[in-house]
Amino acid sequence: MSATGEPRVGGPGPREVDVVVIGAGQAGLSVGRLLSRTELSFVILDAEDGPGAGWRHTWDSLRLFSPAFWSSIPGIIMPGGRDYYPTRDEVIAYFKTYEERYKLPIERPVWVHAVRRHADDRLLVESDRGNWLAEHVVSATGSLRNPVIPDYPGRCQFEGVQIHSSEYRSPEPFRGQRVLVVGGGNSGAQIMAELSLVADATWVTRREPRYFPDDVDGRIIFEHATKRYQARAEGRDPESAVEDLLGDIVMLPPVKAARDRGDLVAVRPFACFTRDGVVWPDGREERIDAVIWCTGFRPALDHLCPLGVIEPDGRILTDGTRSIREPRLWLVGYGEWTGYASATLIGVGRTAKETVDGIVEERERGAARGSAGR
Ligand code: FAD
Repeated sequence: MSATGEPRVGGPGPREVDVVVIGAGQAGLSVGRLLSRTELSFVILDAEDGPGAGWRHTWDSLRLFSPAFWSSIPGIIMPGGRDYYPTRDEVIAYFKTYEERYKLPIERPVWVHAVRRHADDRLLVESDRGNWLAEHVVSATGSLRNPVIPDYPGRCQFEGVQIHSSEYRSPEPFRGQRVLVVGGGNSGAQIMAELSLVADATWVTRREPRYFPDDVDGRIIFEHATKRYQARAEGRDPESAVEDLLGDIVMLPPVKAARDRGDLVAVRPFACFTRDGVVWPDGREERIDAVIWCTGFRPALDHLCPLGVIEPDGRILTDGTRSIREPRLWLVGYGEWTGYASATLIGVGRTAKETVDGIVEERERGAARGSAGR
């Protein structure tokens, strides 16, 4: 860091900061807000053209399954209260306010393609807009840039439209068409709910969908995560502290309405694709215009390949949020493996705090070692 606390800006060489945060979603913003209360210099690099991160890539009518009051990140309460489910545009507006209120040093659009070990004991972050050198890197790149589509037999020969839920915007392009919606989670249920109004849609799920009771909202997921977090903090077995949630799908009003219309009937998967449709397990062939894959995401971690920290299952071994194989690397968001409910709006604050506290402690330990050595 420079004497003024500002990041040093090099000429053609890498820019230098204490911490580079990659990603300006709820995970990166929460870390940024907490870093801004320390002496550390930092920058947030984000691939998007504007605020909103992964939420910019969700469909137009999306509503959170968590009420506004349970959808805030550290510092600013999401407007709307306890009984209101914010829209995707409201989440994007909330992030914009957050960035502006805390004057977060975000650079965008910046695509980070690699993080490497550098000869001087720091990490080198390489991007399409130049390089940065940092003592710590926080990766908060989420999953929405890494959609998963399962490999069904004959998928490549199918000549109809195939899109992942991350590309779906509205039901209009499918009006009057025969469409398969594949996937039994919240995305599948919400897209099926609106598509079934305008298209001949069939919902394909591996097993019968599991609905939460009508009076249960997304809060239950956070309460569940909190019980496991507390159990772990008290040295108890987190899994024995909770019962199975027995549900996957939150009954938002449009989903309830679709179920009440009889439109949420799910069938088990087809056997294979043909050129213009699918074959069902009983041998019946059906012509299909389009398939919408609501089959989830994997963490977007390709930029970390040069560090050799990615395990065969696509995750990184961590102690809390810190990489075990590369201790200058921290992972925030992504899923339960970086902390209970860390891939949710309200849950990420806890792991963001652990991360920033960890970086500050590391820094203080380094300073103490430095002065003891003099
Ligand atoms: P993201 O929001 O994906 O942000 C990551 C950022 O990093 C993006 O801006 C991306 O462009 C950028 N990035 C990625 N790779 C690079 C790179 N190499 N270089 C530079 N930048 C990069 N959670 C709730 O709490 N309540 C809900 O109701 C809820 N509903 C959901 C509904 C849907 C359909 C989905 C998909 C998720 C929902 N979630 C909900 C879950 C969760 O809140 C999101 O997945 C959330 O977007 C994760 O935040 P993040 O900051 O980790 O990642």
